Amino acid sequence: MEPALYRLRTSGPTMQGMTAPQQTPFRTKAPATTDTPLALDALFAAQHRASRHMVDVPLAWRLERLERLSALIDTHGPALADAVAADFGVRSRELTDVADYFVLLATIGQLKAQCARWMKPQRVSTPMYLQPAKAYIQRQPLGVVGIIGPWNYPLQLTLGPLATALAAGNRAMIKPSELTPCSSALLAELVHRSFSPDEVVVVQGGPQVAQAFASLPFDHLMFTGSTAVGRKVAEAAARNLTPTTLELGGKSPCIVDASCSVADMEQVALKIAHGKLINAGQTCIAPDYLLLPQGREAEFEQAFALAVQRLFPATSGRTDYASILTDRHLARLQALVDEARTDGARVVEVPVSGASHARQMAPTLVFNPDPHSRLMTEEIFGPVLPVLTYGQLPEVVSLINARSRPLALYWFGTDSTAQQQVLRQTVSGGVTINDTLLHIAHHHLPFGGVGESGWGAYHGEVGFLRFTQQKPVLVQSRWAMGHLFYPPYGQRFQRLMGLLKRWL
Ligand code: NAD
Repeated sequence: MEPALYRLRTSGPTMQGMTAPQQTPFRTKAPATTDTPLALDALFAAQHRASRHMVDVPLAWRLERLERLSALIDTHGPALADAVAADFGVRSRELTDVADYFVLLATIGQLKAQCARWMKPQRVSTPMYLQPAKAYIQRQPLGVVGIIGPWNYPLQLTLGPLATALAAGNRAMIKPSELTPCSSALLAELVHRSFSPDEVVVVQGGPQVAQAFASLPFDHLMFTGSTAVGRKVAEAAARNLTPTTLELGGKSPCIVDASCSVADMEQVALKIAHGKLINAGQTCIAPDYLLLPQGREAEFEQAFALAVQRLFPATSGRTDYASILTDRHLARLQALVDEARTDGARVVEVPVSGASHARQMAPTLVFNPDPHSRLMTEEIFGPVLPVLTYGQLPEVVSLINARSRPLALYWFGTDSTAQQQVLRQTVSGGVTINDTLLHIAHHHLPFGGVGESGWGAYHGEVGFLRFTQQKPVLVQSRWAMGHLFYPPYGQRFQRLMGLLKRWL
């Protein structure tokens, strides 16, 4: 049985130069590298104790922790990107740069700039019947946040929630995916060098460790991963009454509207191909399937092939086009395509020039697959794009609404009435119009799913509040008249109540 242990090296940095009220009790001077195995429970207990010892976390502490996180990324970004590449087989540093670091550094920049404002108490107006009392909402750290990450963007999806949790004044424990062992191990090492274990700690391990991790009584548990595992996480967290944020997967539709002209198709296909093929389709918000007006299949097929050549020309295609993570994941994708082919769907593979790694799967279009096939019922998470054709827009709306609510939805076209019809009549985690993926990069927009694609959004102030207790405080005035409503109830009470009810 896998031990729920973390091999902890107990040396850690201190908040040098900080004048904040007290050092946390676990910032002990410790032997350089003792490799002492500590139980998961003990790690949690250390963070929990520290969070209760220092409930009020000053701005300076929060900013300094964010600074340390930025420094970690700045200094070790290339090494981490190489570790991610080793995990995948083929994955360019540039992809990690744009998809992990860019989003991450933008998030940290925004948190640093806004933290002071977001952590301030928020005044609220007081209704007449409670005046002259005053009221406000105090924003406090929750305490210890657990973060469970997936393998596809192993840095953005662990360090992004971490940055937000730290800005909100929390401590955090991270459980990255066991399927990215190189980057997870390096991340654990670097976090250990930059943070004391009672501030931030990375716990490595497979599903059993993950299960034990999800059973810890965190103040909040943030999970990014599949819907199936998300269900288990929600169950484990519910036993502790731990609130969760679940960032899950699903089948995100991409609609090409009839208003999209022949001249536009080249650009539209390029944007769809980019959204689908970045990280070889292993992206939670990648367009999962395409809805195309009937009769435009050949036009799209040609434009998609051109787009693949343009994104991955012979000179750079070998490394810019990522490989599928493991043989098991590749075999699953190939089985989905084979099943669709056997069922009679037309399959078009568009080879990437120079792609020679065994797991660099060719971008694949599957025209009009059976709606009940696995290809159309499971999240694809690879470079396979089913193309369904439709006659009228209401068919599109009905098809989307008959399925689980998707994480993302994409719409391409120029007809604003059709666009509004789709936006108003469908519900999804997020939307990008006339492009793909980009709503995730806009840090003023909340990012999250709905229904089967998850609950609870993060990014920006919404994310900050996800990891914050919003405590209502009412401050009574010495001139308050509340006693007029105390028992014993008599005629005076009745008169006053009558008066108040008229004012409501
Ligand atoms: P996964 O659900 O298999 O694993 C995610 C994490 O859960 C891993 O760290 C794993 O160790 C852990 N885990 C496994 N069993 C567990 C258990 N019983 N209790 C607690 N944790 C457990 O997902 P994956 O294969 O790593 O990632 C791919 C999935 O993640 C896709 O479905 C994708 O859509 C989704 N995803 C969603 C987002 C988002 O923001 N919504 C982002 C990236 C990926």
